Amino acid sequence: MRAKRAKQYRKALQHYQQFCGFREPYQLLVSPDFVLEAASKSVDIVETVSQTLGAEVRPLITFCGIDTVRKAEGEHRDKAVAAIRGFEKRRCPHTEPIAGAKCIEEILGGGNKHHYVLAAQSEVLRAKLRRIVGVPILHMKQVVVVMEPVPEHTRALARPQESAKQELSGVEREMLKTLKAETRAAKAAARPSAPKRKKKGPKGPNPLSAKKSKKK
Ligand SMILES: [Zn+2]
Repeated sequence: MRAKRAKQYRKALQHYQQFCGFREPYQLLVSPDFVLEAASKSVDIVETVSQTLGAEVRPLITFCGIDTVRKAEGEHRDKAVAAIRGFEKRRCPHTEPIAGAKCIEEILGGGNKHHYVLAAQSEVLRAKLRRIVGVPILHMKQVVVVMEPVPEHTRALARPQESAKQELSGVEREMLKTLKAETRAAKAAARPSAPKRKKKGPKGPNPLSAKKSKKK
């Protein structure tokens, strides 16, 4: 089961690399609720996520995220604050800190141009970011970090290339275009001949009338 999942993740990451521009080490954008969840389970984020992805990761947290972790209540707050000490601080546009999850939503809302892998627990946040193309999403299940399947809109990025292989080659397409053009030209050439025949038709009676006139 574990090997199967590892293979799935490897394929998914290959997809994100090939079609969304992801590169190792992956930039892991961590949501405060994920940090708190990991702290409550004594899970080392970088180590566990690296194991899950089979790749090196660089953790980042926004300034609002740090603020949210610091303001969190509960017994695991100190552990969580210690856990993010080594994380890269990601600048965000908020001079007055907002909720960490909301901050992430704003950063990724316009598209994942920095190629972040998102680690978040909130189902609400994950559901919102699932709509954005090219966002790998991780969350914790017990003490394991799992990755969501590649969403349909992100999988679709592979399709133009896949179908191109099955379709016609460039040469074949050119040939077809020429053939179509020739057919069209032939049809166009055939059209003027039709009225000519009609013209011949009316001319027909004239010789007859001429013959009649000869008999008289
Ligand atoms: Zn912010």
